[in-house]
Amino acid sequence: MSLITVGTMAFDAIETPFGKVDKIVGGSATYVAYAASNYVQPIYQISIIGNDFPAAEIDALKNRGVELEGVEVVPDKKSFFWSGKYHLDMNTRDTLVTDLNVLADFNPIVPEQYQGSPFLMLGNLMPKLQLSVINQMKTRPKLIVMDTMNFWMDIALDDLKEVLKKVDVLMVNDSEARQLSGEFSLVKAARVIMNMGPKYLIIKKGEHGALLFHEQHVFFAPALPLEEVFDPTGAGDTFAGGFIGYLAKTEDISFDNMKRAIIVGSALASFCVEKFGPDRMKELTKAEIDDRINQFVQLVNFDIDLV
Ligand code: AMP
Repeated sequence: MSLITVGTMAFDAIETPFGKVDKIVGGSATYVAYAASNYVQPIYQISIIGNDFPAAEIDALKNRGVELEGVEVVPDKKSFFWSGKYHLDMNTRDTLVTDLNVLADFNPIVPEQYQGSPFLMLGNLMPKLQLSVINQMKTRPKLIVMDTMNFWMDIALDDLKEVLKKVDVLMVNDSEARQLSGEFSLVKAARVIMNMGPKYLIIKKGEHGALLFHEQHVFFAPALPLEEVFDPTGAGDTFAGGFIGYLAKTEDISFDNMKRAIIVGSALASFCVEKFGPDRMKELTKAEIDDRINQFVQLVNFDIDLV
C-alpha cells in the first residue's frame, strides 16, 4: 500500500512557554510523512525545498521509506519559513512570520511513479496547489484527506472551496471550522462544511480531543492528558499522518475504521508535542505507539449499570 502526501517542508522558529528554537525542520508534509510511515511505506512526498534544507534531514526521511522524487529542489532560493509563538494555554498560537520563499512559485508535479496510489493526503498548503495535485491524478484515489488552516481561509477562500468539492475528509481545528462555516455551534458548523463537499469532517480541539462527523453521526476521541507539552507544532499534521496511515494500512475507509484511525492519529500527536520539532517522531518505536494506543482505550473505557 502507498500514500501520497503533499505539503510544506520547512524551517520553523518556535516559541513556547518552555523554550525557543530559531531554526528547526518542520513543515506539514514532514510531520505527515513521519507519522504515516509508522503504518505504510512508501510515502510518496510532493513538496519543494531550497538549497538550505539539510541533507541529513533528507536522509532521515528516506530511511523511513519516504520517496522524494516529487520534491523539487530550488538551488538558489530558501525553503519555506514559518514562525509561531504559543500562548500560555498551548492551544492557541500567533503566527509571527510566514515567508513563502520557494513556495511562492511552486508548481507541484505528480511523478509517474506516484500514479495509482490509493490514498492522498493534502497537507496544509495553498489550496490551488492542492487542487492541482488532485487534477493530475489519472485515477481518483480511494480516499482524499485535506488539511488546511485559517491563513488560507483569509487569503484564498474561493480556491479552498473549490478543493473542498473534491475531497472526502477535511480536517480543521475548532476556530477554523467556525470561520469557514460562520456558525458557532460545531454541530451546525459541521453540517455547513459537509454541504461544501467533504463527506467526513474532523474538528480538532487541541488538548480537548477531536470530533469526527459523518452524515448524522458523530464520534469523539479524547486527547491524552499529558504531564508535559513542550511544543504543539506539527501535532495537527502528525494527527493527519497517523489517521491516513492507519486507514491505508488497514485498507478500510468505513466510518467505524475512521474512529480507530482518529485514535491512532491522536496517539501519534501526543508524542509529537513532547519535544521541539519532529524529533520525538524520529525515535518512536512500534511498542511505544501500541502502548499509547492502549492508554487511549483505557482512558474512555468504562462500564455502567443503568439504575
Ligand atoms: P500544525 O502545528 O500541525 O498546524 O503544523 C505546523 C507546521 O505547518 C509547521 O511546521 C509549519 O512549517 C507549517 N506551516 C505553517 N504555516 C503554514 C502554511 N500557511 N502553509 C503550509 N504549512 C504551514
